[in-house]
Amino acid sequence: MTSFDLRQARLRPGEEHREALEVELPAFEFGGQRYVPVPEQVPALLVVTRAVSGTVFGLDFTARLHGPCYRCLGDAVLEVPIKAREYQAESPDDDELTTPYLAEGSLQVSDWARDAVALALPDKILCRPDCAGLCPECGKNLNDEPHEHAEELSDPRWAALEALRDQL
Ligand SMILES: [Zn+2]
Ligand SMILES: [Zn+2]
Repeated sequence: MTSFDLRQARLRPGEEHREALEVELPAFEFGGQRYVPVPEQVPALLVVTRAVSGTVFGLDFTARLHGPCYRCLGDAVLEVPIKAREYQAESPDDDELTTPYLAEGSLQVSDWARDAVALALPDKILCRPDCAGLCPECGKNLNDEPHEHAEELSDPRWAALEALRDQL
């Protein structure tokens, strides 16, 4: 659990504090599949800027997730660059001017990082943007074996029935 104690930084208006941190990421459940961060700990840069009216927090890091491709179920590796921003007003009178990650003067960096990655995930996680997926007819991987199936020929058993009906 990575956190940052704002009171220790003792920033005055106009001052900026930059801190290199290690952020631990959890595994993510997405579309019924599990995506694991590799590595689990990533280097991150936290920038805290004090303004007269409040404090701006910036968190930059890159997460790398491993898990199944949405289309072909092969291995997919997803790089998720994060540039997150939060703001805490000095005297907040509005929910929008507070960050949910600040608790008793301590910034909950791990929670923030986890939510930022979850928000940044694409609609579909693919092994590559043009993944061809699995064949709907035979289930083979179309990336390994590109193929098409000829249109279904009429079933010979039906042809026999047709012939029989013509005789009646
Ligand atoms: Zn794929
Ligand atoms: Zn096929």
